[in-house]
Amino acid sequence: SNYLLQQYEKMNLVGELAAGIAHEIKNPLTILKGFIQLLDISKHKREHTQYESLMFSEIDRIHLMVNEFLTLAKPSEEDMKPIDLHVALKQTISLMHAHAVNNKVTIQFEENTSLPLVHGIENKLKQAFINIIKNAIEAMHEGGRLRIIMDQCKDGMKISFADEGCGMTEEELRKITTPFFTTKSDGTGLGMMITNNIVESHNGKLQVESKMGAGTTISIAFPL
Ligand code: ADP
Ligand code: MG
Repeated sequence: SNYLLQQYEKMNLVGELAAGIAHEIKNPLTILKGFIQLLDISKHKREHTQYESLMFSEIDRIHLMVNEFLTLAKPSEEDMKPIDLHVALKQTISLMHAHAVNNKVTIQFEENTSLPLVHGIENKLKQAFINIIKNAIEAMHEGGRLRIIMDQCKDGMKISFADEGCGMTEEELRKITTPFFTTKSDGTGLGMMITNNIVESHNGKLQVESKMGAGTTISIAFPL
């Protein structure tokens, strides 16, 4: 199952990287466009009007390509099916079993089989769960317990992943979904950005609570 997990991660890493880079290209582009607008080249020489519009149209072209890249990474409505999250979670947890044992982590799954189905893409949701569970295991340097709880909430359902790991500072908490933000020497800083994208494309909400030295709880709330 460790091999399966590695293959799963490799398959997704390329897509994650592409989506992360695409996301990051948008900010400098917007800044560039703003400065070109400020320069207002057309005031000075007539031929420059042409340069200006060329620059704008090239920036817009990059913007369009980047957006297409990002929508490629997003699931389309027709790929969505009713998913039993209880089953999806169970499968994900067994995929992570070896990784957990190797890090002295026990996963305690508080099952709930009476929850309604969620409209979504199974592989994407599993990828989000893997990212969260992996982070939780990596945060418990001396091992510990990861509790996964499924619950009915006000207008839907909620899955919580509560670890007993190192926790996060307020700044880390703020940056957790920022592309390339990592505190690990071998991290990519893309896992939580992708997780947040997946959750949002399922109309869900990602919540993070953390206490330094005590642990972190990541919750996903799905409306029904
Ligand atoms: P990576 O795992 O490659 O560093 P992620 O996007 O998955 O990238 O996570 C970004 C950062 O958020 C991590 O480097 C870590 O600092 C923090 N983080 C995420 N989940 C947890 C957690 N459960 N406990 C403590 N810190 C976490
Ligand atoms: Mg990670």
